[in-house]
Amino acid sequence: MAPTAVLEHVNEHPADLKSKVVEGEVQTEQQPKLPLADNYMYDFKYNHALPTIDALGQDIAADVDPIRTAEALVAQLSDVLGAGDAAGFTDLFLDYGVWRDKLAFTWDYRTFNFKENIARAAKDLLPATRAKNLRFLSPAPQIQRPYPDLAYLQFVISLNTELANAHAVVQAVSTSQGWKIWTLHTVIESLHDFPELPPADGHMTGSISWEKQRAKEDDEIVPDVVIIGGGQNGLVLAARLKVLGVKALIVDRGAEIGEVWTKRYEYLSLHFPHWADHFPYFPYPDHWPTYTPAQKQGLYMQWYAAAMELAVWNSSSVVKADQDANGNWTVQVNKGGKDDIRTLKPKHVVMATSLCGVPTIPVIPGIDEWKGGIYRHSTAHDSSRDFVGKKVLVVGTSSSGFDTAYDCARRNIDVTILQRSPTYIMSLTHSVPRAIGGYEPKNGVRPDLDEQDRLAFANPTGPGEELGRRNAEYLENADKELLDALHAKGLRTWRGQRGTGNGTLGQTRNGGFYFDAGACENIINGKIKVEPGYIEKFTEEKVILSGGRERQYDLIVFATGFSNTIDSVKSTLGDKIADQCEPIWGIDEEGEFRSAYKESGVPNLWIFVGYLPYTRFHSKRLALRLKALIEGVSPSPYTA
Ligand SMILES: Cc1cc2nc3c(=O)[nH]c(=O)nc-3n(C[C@H](O)[C@H](O)[C@H](O)COP(=O)(O)OP(=O)(O)OC[C@H]3O[C@@H](n4cnc5c(N)ncnc54)[C@H](O)[C@@H]3O)c2cc1C
Repeated sequence: MAPTAVLEHVNEHPADLKSKVVEGEVQTEQQPKLPLADNYMYDFKYNHALPTIDALGQDIAADVDPIRTAEALVAQLSDVLGAGDAAGFTDLFLDYGVWRDKLAFTWDYRTFNFKENIARAAKDLLPATRAKNLRFLSPAPQIQRPYPDLAYLQFVISLNTELANAHAVVQAVSTSQGWKIWTLHTVIESLHDFPELPPADGHMTGSISWEKQRAKEDDEIVPDVVIIGGGQNGLVLAARLKVLGVKALIVDRGAEIGEVWTKRYEYLSLHFPHWADHFPYFPYPDHWPTYTPAQKQGLYMQWYAAAMELAVWNSSSVVKADQDANGNWTVQVNKGGKDDIRTLKPKHVVMATSLCGVPTIPVIPGIDEWKGGIYRHSTAHDSSRDFVGKKVLVVGTSSSGFDTAYDCARRNIDVTILQRSPTYIMSLTHSVPRAIGGYEPKNGVRPDLDEQDRLAFANPTGPGEELGRRNAEYLENADKELLDALHAKGLRTWRGQRGTGNGTLGQTRNGGFYFDAGACENIINGKIKVEPGYIEKFTEEKVILSGGRERQYDLIVFATGFSNTIDSVKSTLGDKIADQCEPIWGIDEEGEFRSAYKESGVPNLWIFVGYLPYTRFHSKRLALRLKALIEGVSPSPYTA
């Protein structure tokens, strides 16, 4: 287990954004740490092969008409779904096909890998959920050929169950037994009886101004849902709930909305183009910069809360949270941090305090006696401005570490990056088109976000892992020159957990990779130095790196990440609730995220986390689940 630790000494720091941890493990490793084990937070137990042309023994003929082929498959799907015919449905799949469902059939997030599991689930679910009205959605059916040896038909349909409208993305391959479904992803889109509300009239007819009216409503709100944390996930979920007519209150300890971005280090821009990042209902305006400056993202969040008229209590925190035997909540909140204690009785509580629990710094012998300089966690470091002419060490080689070293290099500060284990690195040039190319505006026209989301989220974990491995291999070749030059400077790279580049790392560690936002060039030109290893100990004046290397630094920035979200649950809702919570994040046996977006192990407690495209996609699903529960129409999740 990696050393984690104590953030008691965040000295001279401008903005301690996170709570402080008090316990940790002592750094005892003598050998450089290896990259993560393949099974780190990853319990997925199926081996998926790609249905390559070789494996299937045939290619898709050049004259195949994708539309007519898809129509024939939809007709078959329509028959078996309408009849609740589990055997017929199962027969449509490849032996190693996958059916993944988000709330449309299972009222849960579930994946059924291979025919045997599909058959079992279909037998239980289809007779009760007669899906009908299958209709094509855009884009039109297409033959996809991502690699020379892989070809499949892809199309998107909508369908109705008794309760809901859903979409399905179908990927099918041509086999000797005809067309077979490789992957089917069914996802809830809306509830028939509870559509989104129409816009309010908006005429000012009351006796007070809009602003005062809003403040009054926010102050007096009796929420159905309390969302703890008003970052992107809390805000967007609140907006989704609002348009469904659910009263949601956000409780955030920050003084202002957006602080996670406005108070991060000042040189931060988001690491990917903004194309896939729009919040629902309020997209970025035209001419938004490609890479959003972090402070601007924070402002966008403030505008969003105002535009969507969300109820947010800032500078507020949970004092006490309790559940009775029936899972009913009593939550006491210190509103505005002024001992104005409010007692709330929401039906649901959502933790949206991020995937980061608390900042971690290694416990290193002698650190308290060190007088040679100062140290701080990256969350407490806003600029290297005050360190011009001095020596800086950055510990850790994920995004924050590279960004921090890059900021120093731009100021010609003598900066070294300390790398304990290899990092997954890719250039933006090659990775962006493959990761989010579908979201890129073409000739100034933005693609439809819902349409892109359906496609982007379509691959279940098993096939996704296989494709991730291919992608990582492709990128490694495309970035060979860059990687070779980095290796020559002593920086070590790898292909990521399970060889999938940033794919699995994002699903488990929520980091450990770097999209080159500028630091690499400065490593190659020597402005950022690289040292392998870790800090073994401190003397009064010196920093001793592993192997006894003596160094002196004026500033050490620990870009060493965060503990798990469970620490945030613990410090906010208490040990009793946290102890009942299932593990959070990482992949379960069938390929779903653990606890996020679905049942958490604690009745009426939900964990809502993830990066920006996840925020938009999953917020719709969680809001619909909460609405269905509040209205008393949600079936129980399928548990077999
Ligand atoms: C250098 C860097 C670059 C990144 N670039 C990108 C990017 O390009 N795209 C992307 O999608 N993501 C990026 N990320 C990740 C990004 O930080 C997360 O996607 C995002 O912050 C997650 O949003 P969230 O709402 O889950 O949590 P946060 O944004 O962390 O919001 C959590 C909110 O909860 C509040 N809170 C926390 N605990 C409590 C509590 N106990 N009580 C009350 N309130 C509480 C906080 O004040 C905060 O407002 C980057 C991260 C880093 C470090």
